[in-house]
Amino acid sequence: MTLHFADLHPPRPTRQTLEAAHAAIHTDLAAGAADRRGTALARWDEERRRYESWSALVHLRFSQDTANAEARAERDYADALAPEATRHEVSVKRHLLDHPDRAALIAEQGAHRVRLWEMDITTFDPAIAPALEEEARLCAEYTELLASARLDVEGTRVNLSGLAPFQETRDRDVRHRAEQARWAFFAANAERLDGLYDRLVTLRHDMAATLGFASYTPLGYRRMRRVDYGPEQVAAFRAQVLEHVVPLVHRLLRQRTAEQGWDRLYAWDESLIDPAGNPRPAGAHDLLIERATMMFDRMGPALGAFFRTMNDGGFLDLRNRDGKAGGGFCTSFPTEGVPFIFANFNGTHHDIAVFTHEMGHAFQNWQSRDLPGIDLLWPTMDAAEINSMGLEFLTWPHMELMVEEGAADRYRRMHLIASLAFLPYGVCVDHFQHEIYADPAMSAEGRHALWRRLERLYMPWRDYGDLDYPAKGGRWQAQLHIYRLPFYYIDYTLALCCAMQFWLAARRDADDAMRRYTALCGQGGSASFTDLVASAGLVSPFSPGALHDVVREAETVLAL
Ligand code: ZN
Repeated sequence: MTLHFADLHPPRPTRQTLEAAHAAIHTDLAAGAADRRGTALARWDEERRRYESWSALVHLRFSQDTANAEARAERDYADALAPEATRHEVSVKRHLLDHPDRAALIAEQGAHRVRLWEMDITTFDPAIAPALEEEARLCAEYTELLASARLDVEGTRVNLSGLAPFQETRDRDVRHRAEQARWAFFAANAERLDGLYDRLVTLRHDMAATLGFASYTPLGYRRMRRVDYGPEQVAAFRAQVLEHVVPLVHRLLRQRTAEQGWDRLYAWDESLIDPAGNPRPAGAHDLLIERATMMFDRMGPALGAFFRTMNDGGFLDLRNRDGKAGGGFCTSFPTEGVPFIFANFNGTHHDIAVFTHEMGHAFQNWQSRDLPGIDLLWPTMDAAEINSMGLEFLTWPHMELMVEEGAADRYRRMHLIASLAFLPYGVCVDHFQHEIYADPAMSAEGRHALWRRLERLYMPWRDYGDLDYPAKGGRWQAQLHIYRLPFYYIDYTLALCCAMQFWLAARRDADDAMRRYTALCGQGGSASFTDLVASAGLVSPFSPGALHDVVREAETVLAL
């Protein structure tokens, strides 16, 4: 029996239904009897799954059709209800943590889940509910502002994601004009972008103060559910990237500049990684689905069968169309177990990433669907991005299927270079946010100057030429995570450090690497980031020298 996406109709919660369901859970928990505790726990899990499935579907439906007034109204309704759902969730966690016998609670729930809950209850108080609602509203405003961009380039009108093919074309003047068009949009909206960010930073700082934190940073780490590391370890990782990766990327860029015969390397030259042109996908949507099916079948029965389940059930929406929100993501419906992949194909190599990156997230969610309790279905994002980026590297041997004729080797080289070049940018975004939340009263000019200073540190090659807006420090405003998902960004770099270890392992023994990867996916969120990393036999990014082996292998492969 195939499950179809169109058949998903999770019930729509209201303040009243949430209130009634949670009152019953509290009553059963308070009764003390073992059978009623069991009933309460099962009912709570069911309640959370239903709510999450509904919320995921509402947000997905809006992303699929942002011009649909009904979908927008439903998203606004969900955003307004979210703090209420959090309030109930936290109240049950508090109730459970009040258990008189801690050892018995850990035996029942597992130590990891108890640690997560202990962290979660410190991130919410009913007093911040209005601020949370306002935060969601400001984030939506940022998304809609960026989605409203209409840029004229080479005689066509595109949105920001539609710029990608022009940003990496071989024609240097077109790349330059594409960047001019992009930054003209940001310059024209500078005041709104500065104002929105200022309100978000102030709001977050005030929320932290209400909850008893000295600044937003510790609250931000807790909202990311980081139970096993803090800002000091993250700073040490950034220092490793600065020491080992920045010089390597700088050398690669100098080499490219010389090869191309350029006088200097401008910002708009950085995305043309392959001198012959970044390799394109083998074809359009239908062909790529067919090829991806073959690729996943070759990688093992579990992956292949799962991809068919998604495709047959309509759990893929990959075509670009008018009114669709930008970007790509994987979301899930914990009542059903089958995740959903959303993307916007644009004919560049980014289309291949959808099958390799988002499928990694989806496969993990599927492999761990039977773990007990909703808290364990997804790992924290640092670990989740190992599942996604890990698959990007594990699909390397099958790239002949996905890439245009004869370009698989060039694709692999481009992917490796892009991954290395991402690390300095990723840690720069993270460093910026630590400084921002340490000084929430910083002026807009101060924030731009700060970004430029950090950009010079982590990307000393960056030359914006005549692009005034980023030259003065405005580049960060194009990074949605800085607005919408504070402190998330470092997770991509931590995960990449681990995913590249899968790359290294697969070069030695592909079957063993795939086995370890599949086992890691099956663990879902049953342990913390560093525990999951250790269980997969990987070196923690926080260990000194974590990047050493992959950087050395990359130097060899790239013949530096
Ligand atoms: Zn991801």
